[in-house]
Parts: sequence; structure tokens; C-alpha cells
Amino acid sequence: MNIQESTTELQHLDGQHHVHPFTDPKAIQKDGSRVITRAEGIYLWDSNGEKILDGMAGLWCVNVGYGRENLAKAAYEQLQVLPYYNTFFKTTTPPAISLAKKLAEITPEGFNHVFFTNSGSEANDTVIRTVRRYWRVLAKPEKRYIISRKEAYHGSTVAAASLGGQSYAHEMDGLPIPEIVHIDHPYWYGKGGKLSPDDFGLKTAQCLETKIKEIGSEKVAAFIGEPIQGAGGLVVPPDTYWPEIQRICKKYGILLIADEVICGFGRTGNWFGSETFDIKADLMPIAKGLSSGYLPIGGVMMHDRVMDVLIEKGGDFDHGFTYSGHPVACAVALENIKILEEEKLVEKVANETGPYLKKCWKEFESHPIVGEVRNVGLLGAIELVKNKDKRQFFPSDKKVGDACRNFCFENNLVMRALRDTMIVSPPLTMTVEQIDEMADLVKHCLDLTADRFGIK
Ligand SMILES: *Cc1c(COP(=O)(O)O)cnc(C)c1O
Repeated sequence: MNIQESTTELQHLDGQHHVHPFTDPKAIQKDGSRVITRAEGIYLWDSNGEKILDGMAGLWCVNVGYGRENLAKAAYEQLQVLPYYNTFFKTTTPPAISLAKKLAEITPEGFNHVFFTNSGSEANDTVIRTVRRYWRVLAKPEKRYIISRKEAYHGSTVAAASLGGQSYAHEMDGLPIPEIVHIDHPYWYGKGGKLSPDDFGLKTAQCLETKIKEIGSEKVAAFIGEPIQGAGGLVVPPDTYWPEIQRICKKYGILLIADEVICGFGRTGNWFGSETFDIKADLMPIAKGLSSGYLPIGGVMMHDRVMDVLIEKGGDFDHGFTYSGHPVACAVALENIKILEEEKLVEKVANETGPYLKKCWKEFESHPIVGEVRNVGLLGAIELVKNKDKRQFFPSDKKVGDACRNFCFENNLVMRALRDTMIVSPPLTMTVEQIDEMADLVKHCLDLTADRFGIK
């Protein structure tokens, strides 16, 4: 079989037997998937031998880049010593202990405990159970409502998708579940109108206060938000937003949850997005960059404020996953954090590559199809618009973002489209030369998209 035939065969089998996340199964059968076969550094290779620049670090997660032998070794060694044991019923394993201790060291002050999960979705399910448990232990069982935001992404289990604010996900099967509600998100470019970013930030944050009053603060358990909304379109909040949210949470005595699944582990140029925005959260779900995606692992960081209550009078915490604190995943996560530290990747994003990416993206702002760019750390967004002077978007049925993504695909660049916002979130190992290489490809694909839609 030649390389093309073997790809066709793989695609055929994939269409016959494999149900893909967030994908139309009919399209998979008709068009076939791209088959990724190996990876090294910031590059992927597909089954046709094409080399692809991965501007998304997988799904925002491969922070240390691909092909790390130390991570493979850590997994192999742990698999030989103890491939599995659980952490239920007063048992534990050395890798789970070491990782918990390490996380207590690198997370913001007051976070000294972690509950392990296998994913960000499970972390957010755990969050819901924890905040309701917390209020119950404090003899306020009626505090159950959790306030989230439009376009939030918190995962795909029933509870996590309910926390999410994406209407298409809710429409799939009739979510959200009761007692989860959503307020406006701080998407200034799309929703700010004539307001300054700061005024708009304040106004959207105050939606929280309005919602709390509407429900009754005695029924509200918590507010959840990503420091920067990721899958919702890389929404970077105005400076006024997080201080006002925190003022309101304090005033009404509700817990604050910072979903660090994307922002954590160096993505924003600090270890956690909470540091970048000075957020003092009570709970922090983590996943993705925790293991750079090499093995599935997530968790919930629990602040002393919450943990003291659960320890003091909570009793049994009746929640857990067979693989909570899986020793092999913990060993790999620990080694991953060691790489982030030894190679000073967080500092590199803060001082070198983050500012450089920002400079490159700033140059795109003069492109005729680009309305706004947004950057924090190694995150970059480009808004594709019909008329940049009037801040006029394309009609959604034109699917301009999808078209741009397809041009990227054909040009061996992974850049994601969220509506008409083009996103990059590359490995934190990316060098300035590689940023140039990525920016050249992006420029080419923006030109092709502008041509296709007649934007000059
Ligand atoms: C990806 C993501 C999740 C869900 O994580 P999974 O590991 O896919 O379950 C939760 N929150 C945020 C902010 C995410 O980006």
C-alpha cells in the first residue's frame, strides 16, 4: 500500500467505527479525518508525511512541546514500579503525594490541597459538588446556585457543559441542569458598543450583582469564570472586570472559582492566570498543561478557606474517581512541572516570547480583514471582520472563520476558529524564530481569506 492508500484506509476505518467529539459523524465518513501519526517539538506529522506547525499545542495543552523523553521515562519507570493503585479509603502513592506537595508550592498562597481528577470536566464536576458540600457543612444548604457566563467553556460532562455558556452545547440535549445560570461575558470587541473597555468591564461585572439580587444571595453558592475565556473566543477581560467581580463575591459571601484549565501552567506568562489578573479564588480547577497532555490528569486546588471547613466538620467526602491521583499520570505531571521550572518556560513566555508574539500580532491589525488582535502570554486572537472601521462582523452563515481555518489546514498550520476569531495557543517552548514562521503562515492565510471574501 502506498502512503495515500494507507491514509484512505485509515480514514475509512475511522469513519466506520470512531465517533469523534464536537464533529458531525456524517462529515467524518464523507471527508475523512486528518490522521496525525507523530510529533516533535512544535510540529506534527500526518499519515501523508506532511509536517504541520501546531499553533494550538494540541488542545491548548502541550505546554512543554512534543517528544519529551523525560516524560516517557517517568511513565515507564512508574509503570514498572506501581502501574496503578487508588487513593480511596485512606490509601495513597508516592507520586500522588509528591505532586500534591509540588502543586501546593507553585499555586498562589493559601492553596495547599488538591483533589485529583482525570480531566478538566471532572474537575468542574468536583467543583460543583465541593461548593454545595461546603455550604451544607456550614448549615446553609439552600446556597446551591452557581453563576457562570455566556460562552464559558468548563468541559463536556452534564455538569461541566451546564456550567459552560455555549448555547449549541446546551441545545444538544436540553442543558443546563437546574440551579446553574449565566450572565454576560466581558467581550468588549463584540459587545462593548460605544463604551470604553473599562466602562464595559465594570458594566458586565455588575451583571453578577444583578443576578445575585434576582436569585437571592442566600441561594447563591459560587461564581465561576476562566481568567481569560478560552474556547469562548479568547475573551480577555478589561482591567476593571476582575476587581469588580471580586468585590461583588466578597460583598455577598459567595465562593469564587477560577477555572485555570487553560490559563494554568505558564500560558499567560505567570504560573496561573489568577496571578496575571490578581484573582483571589477559593477553588481552582486545573488540567491540560498540568501534564502537557501526555497523560490525562486534572484536579481542583482547594484554598485553606474551603479546606479548613471540610476538614473541621465535613466528615467523609463522598466523591472520587477510580483513577484520582493515578500514579503514572502523577509521575508524568511532576516531571512536566520540573521541565517548566528547569527551562524557565514561564519566565520565557513573560519576558521573551509573549511580548514577541504580541508585537507580531499587533502588525496584523493593519490587515484589511482584521478588526482587533488580543494577546496575553502565549495566547493570540485575531478578529476577522467585514468592515474594520465600523466594527462590522460577517454574517455567521458566511463561516469566514471556518474558511480561514481551512486555508490554515491546507497550509500546514493549526490555527483554531471560534466563530470568526482565529486563535493560537502554541507550546510554551516556541522560539521567536518559530513565532516568525507561524506569523508568516498566518499572514498568508489571512491574505487568502481576505481574497476569498473580497476584502481589500
Ligand atoms: C478544556 C477545558 C475544560 C475541560 O477539560 P477536559 O479535560 O476536556 O475535560 C475545562 N475548563 C476549561 C477552561 C477548558 O479549557
